[in-house]
Amino acid sequence: MAETRHTKVLIIGSGPAGYTAGVYASRAMLEPILVQGIEPGGQLTTTTEVENWPGDTEVQGPDLMVRMQDHAKAMGCEIIGDIIVSLDTGVRPFVAKGDSGTTYTADAVILATGARAKWLGLPSEDAFKGFGVSACATCDGFFYRGQEIVVIGGGNTAVEEALFLTNFASKVTLIHRRDTLRAEKILQDRLFKNPKIETLWFHQLEEVIGEDNPKGVTGVRVKHVDTGAITEIPCKGVFVAIGHAPANELVKDVLELHNGGYVTVKPGSTETSIPGIFAAGDLTDHKYRQAVTSAGMGCMAALDAERFLAEHQE
Ligand SMILES: Cc1cc2nc3c(=O)[nH]c(=O)nc-3n(C[C@H](O)[C@H](O)[C@H](O)COP(=O)(O)OP(=O)(O)OC[C@H]3O[C@@H](n4cnc5c(N)ncnc54)[C@H](O)[C@@H]3O)c2cc1C
Repeated sequence: MAETRHTKVLIIGSGPAGYTAGVYASRAMLEPILVQGIEPGGQLTTTTEVENWPGDTEVQGPDLMVRMQDHAKAMGCEIIGDIIVSLDTGVRPFVAKGDSGTTYTADAVILATGARAKWLGLPSEDAFKGFGVSACATCDGFFYRGQEIVVIGGGNTAVEEALFLTNFASKVTLIHRRDTLRAEKILQDRLFKNPKIETLWFHQLEEVIGEDNPKGVTGVRVKHVDTGAITEIPCKGVFVAIGHAPANELVKDVLELHNGGYVTVKPGSTETSIPGIFAAGDLTDHKYRQAVTSAGMGCMAALDAERFLAEHQE
């Protein structure tokens, strides 16, 4: 029979933002329920080494997320393997429906549903993800010190990633389908002035080439969009920089959004445009998109929810 569960704080999402909110909300005696979603542990479960989580020189992404889950659980957070399919923000308590059939009612909700990098969808891109193919220069640029890299894309993300990668790479080739960039002019100026960056216009990625033992990228095969001519470019890293999509499906029609779908929060807080609904992590953040910034926002969201509940005790 379909069940209804009530909680003071419902946390939706099990990445660094969600689990950190779980730790803080539990320690505030709010007895939170955290619903994990389709990807328990979030984006970091799709990577290998993480070298910028404070306190760990190197940790495997999936291991770190198991530790965060165990931490939240040990503090008293109830963690449920379910997916929220709808959220009614028009009534309080808020009503969330789970794919399992369970209904969750909550006095406050913390949205921590994250974001997804957009990918091209090539089988070879998928095969080398985490082994030379990346969508995050801040996360993985350091692994390519002194190596040649290609960046795919033509918008702000691609130009910013290309510029950032010149801190590590010996050469960066920016590959774009057109002969003009969509990126802001100031970024373009910096790109064109950078001696380490070459642009390859009118080309698209056909295939990532690599080897299996040890697994890694050795180059890319790119196709001219008009002539179909194929060129091979040797490189060790391929950064796909065609944008990110925040996982805003539950709230895109009811909350204020910015920068193409990120949930807007009041500056210096996690309050959204609906009182009692808080948002944390990559879902709100088009700029930093890091585990540690997401965890920080998860902490803020739990503290904001605690204050909100104290002020709205019925
Ligand atoms: C390949 C890769 C490597 C990375 N490497 C690093 C790195 O080295 N260092 C670093 O700091 N950052 C790294 N990042 C970025 C980092 O993973 C993210 O910034 C961080 O995970 C964002 O955390 P989050 O909690 O906001 O959301 P996410 O990690 O995106 O988690 C979102 C969660 O929401 C859940 N969810 C979504 N929709 C629903 C729903 N309807 N119901 C219930 N749950 C839902 C999902 O199941 C998931 O658990 C990397 C990202 C990728 C993709």
